[in-house]
Amino acid sequence: MLSEAKHPRLWWNFQLVFRFFPRQRRGQNDKGRKNDLGNNSSIGRSIKMMKESNKNRLLTFVLAVLMTGFVLTFSCGRKSEVHEEEKIEVVVTIPPLAEFVENVGEDKVEVTVMVPPGASPHTYEPTSSQLKKVSQAKIYVKVGSGVEFELTWMDKLIGINKDMMVVNSSQGIDVMGNDPHVWLSPLNAKTMVENICNGLIRIDPENEEYYVKNKSQYLQELTELDDYIRERLEEIENKKFLVYHPSWGYFAKEYGLKQIPIEQAGKEPSAKEIKDVVEKAKKHNIKVVFVSPQLSTKSAEVIAKEIGGQTMSIDPIAQSYIPNMRIVIEKLTPAMR
Ligand SMILES: [Zn+2]
Repeated sequence: MLSEAKHPRLWWNFQLVFRFFPRQRRGQNDKGRKNDLGNNSSIGRSIKMMKESNKNRLLTFVLAVLMTGFVLTFSCGRKSEVHEEEKIEVVVTIPPLAEFVENVGEDKVEVTVMVPPGASPHTYEPTSSQLKKVSQAKIYVKVGSGVEFELTWMDKLIGINKDMMVVNSSQGIDVMGNDPHVWLSPLNAKTMVENICNGLIRIDPENEEYYVKNKSQYLQELTELDDYIRERLEEIENKKFLVYHPSWGYFAKEYGLKQIPIEQAGKEPSAKEIKDVVEKAKKHNIKVVFVSPQLSTKSAEVIAKEIGGQTMSIDPIAQSYIPNMRIVIEKLTPAMR
C-alpha cells in the first residue's frame, strides 16, 4: 500500500515521522551515556535509566502512532487529488505511436518508447530500465503489423506484465505482405489513432469525452496533412523515387507513387542488384537516393554517385509525425520532378 510511486505524499509523511523519532531517541541515549561517565554508574542507577529509556521509547511509540494516524487522516482526505495527478503509464514500440498516444491522452498519459529515435525497429533490443517500465505499464500499444522488435519481444513483454492491456494499433489495416511500415500512410495513422483512443477509453472510461475530443482534433490535423500531400503531388508526373530501405510502401500506395528499393529483403544488395537499380534510376531520370537516419548508407552512396545524384535523409520513425511528413513531402516532390 505504501509504495513511494503510488502515494508519494503519504510516503514522505511516513519518512518524516520515522526519521524524526529515532533522532530523538538517540539524543536521550547520548545523555544517558554522559551521566554514566560522570557518576561512576551504579547498577541501581542503570536500571532506573533503563526504565526511563523504556518509558521514553513507549512515549515515542505512542506519539508516532498518534502522528501516523493524523498523517493518514490528513493524506486520505486529499486522496482524490493524489489520484488525479496519477498518469496512465503507456509503453509504445516506436516514436510515432508515442505521438499518437500523447495527442489523444495529453496530460493523462505518460508514454515510454521502446525503440528510441535513431534506433532501428528491425534490430533494437530493450534495456533493463525499459523492461521495468513495461512491468509498471497499464497499456502497451504495439504497431501490430509485423515489426521485428514486436515479433521478437512481444511475448516476453507480456510475460513480465500479464495485467497490461495490449492495443494493436494496426487493427483494421490491411498489412501488405511482410512490410510492417503501416504508419507512414496518414490514413493508416488515422486508424491507429482510433485504436489508441478506444484503448484509453477501455482503461479509463471516466475520461471518454476528453479522449474523444482530443482524438477528433488530431484526426482533423491528419486530414489536413493528407490534403496537403495530395495537393503537393498533383503536378508530379514522374512518380518514382529511389530508397535504400523500403519503408515507404504504404505511403507510395496511398498517393499513387512507386518506391524503388535498393535493399532487397532486408539485406545489402548484390553487385548485380546495384547495377539493376542504377539502370532503373537512369531510365526514370532519378537523381536522389533516399536514406533513413537509422541505417548505413554505403551502397546508397555508391548508387548516388553512379547516377550522378545525391543521397537525402528522410525519417520513417520520427516522433513528430505530422511535421516530419511535411518535411518528407518537401524533399520528395522536387526529387520526383
Ligand atoms: Zn523499416
